[in-house]
Amino acid sequence: MFRLSAVRLSHFLPSVCLLVSGLAAAYVRDLSVFFTSLFNVLPTLVLLLGGAYCAVYRRQRELFLMLTVYIAYFLLDTQTDFYRDNGRVREDAAVVFHLVCLLLPLMFALYGAWQERTHLFQDMVARFAVLLAVGSVALGLEQSFPQALLSWLAEIRWPSLHGQWMSLIQLAYPVFLCAFILLVVQYLREPRPLHAAQVIGLIGIFWMLPKTFILPFTLNIMCSQVMLMIAAAVSHEAYQMAFRDELTGLPGRRALNERMQRLGRNYVLAMTDVDHFKKFNDTHGHDVGDQVLRLVASKLSKVTGGGRAYRYGGEEFAVVFAGKTIEECMPHLEAVREVIANYNIQLRNQDNRPQDDQQGRQRRGASAASSVSVTISIGASERLADHRSPDEVLKSADQALYSAKGAGRNCVMAHGVQAKRGAVRMA
Ligand code: GH3
Ligand code: MG
Ligand code: MG
Repeated sequence: MFRLSAVRLSHFLPSVCLLVSGLAAAYVRDLSVFFTSLFNVLPTLVLLLGGAYCAVYRRQRELFLMLTVYIAYFLLDTQTDFYRDNGRVREDAAVVFHLVCLLLPLMFALYGAWQERTHLFQDMVARFAVLLAVGSVALGLEQSFPQALLSWLAEIRWPSLHGQWMSLIQLAYPVFLCAFILLVVQYLREPRPLHAAQVIGLIGIFWMLPKTFILPFTLNIMCSQVMLMIAAAVSHEAYQMAFRDELTGLPGRRALNERMQRLGRNYVLAMTDVDHFKKFNDTHGHDVGDQVLRLVASKLSKVTGGGRAYRYGGEEFAVVFAGKTIEECMPHLEAVREVIANYNIQLRNQDNRPQDDQQGRQRRGASAASSVSVTISIGASERLADHRSPDEVLKSADQALYSAKGAGRNCVMAHGVQAKRGAVRMA
């Protein structure tokens, strides 16, 4: 539970930090020349860097999200510049501002929820076509019927729902609310950094719009921060792709290699392997095999004693205990081995899936025939004078695992103490 919430927190943390720093910066009065110049170029700079970054990673959705924010920034910045220089707003300020208040959350939610499914080029053309269509209709209306458009936008349609605090047009609030719900639901269905960044980004935009003409540089700062949130989410996801195993959610082999370079003087490495897994796959099918790997990974990720589990490859996992001796680790490895061996896995096959929750509970209670179990073997080794490098320690853990397999499987073997008293079977 804690690990899960830590993962969720990590999705939101970069965006929340950017939001808070944006809020803080927007309230600073009397900015130095350095910062005023910086904030003037920041949105363009972020768009160019972030856009290039998205293009390299072929992330169209994020690119169009940034583009939407930038266009809104550009339109409003022209107005705020005029206001700053002349002390009054341009005659088209109200209609442009209201249009942005309506279309920015709409387009942000649309691009945010529009998953990349088709061919990349077709996807880009479709997104561009939508942007062009919405932009040209808005521009056409604004040019041809400015007054009619303004009164339609500014009309208070639901007087009973109108509050004094509402500084945007009334229409903008339901659009923001729907966009927010859509993006939150999307995050709940598929929790990933980009979806979290979109939710926080929308909050930033919602906060920014009423302050556009009140707080100098709010627009520049918050638009930059929202685009940075998107760019940070792209890099977060790229990092996850490189370092996390997709099937189990555990850190993968690359993360282990990196961790092994940073281990101190004392540590224990354990190699674990699912017993007779080939036969299990042959009997129950690869999909059930994958379910079991996920379960084993989830149990290993909760290993006590400060151990950190990694998917080494296939059905093999490594557990790293930093700053520990083998004697300290053995009880924890033994405990996790036992938890896995005693766990009855309910097969989530479409064919034998219960119709409703109650039926499912009854089946679980009655330990239905669709439950299976697996065991794991573990070999552990600690860093000793004759095993100095992490690679050597890992190799000896692998040897201990081999001994555990030879000793009948479903057991834990220690290699670190072998030099003195031979491999110890703890089960
Ligand atoms: P032992 O007890 O000696 O470890 O026997 P084993 O059958 O587990 O050993 P072996 O290494 O020969 O088999 C590993 C099997 O793990 C082969 C492959 O079918 C299965 N496997 C590896 N990766 C995956 C995976 O990602 N998903 C599934 N479902 N199976 C996998
Ligand atoms: Mg194996
Ligand atoms: Mg195996």
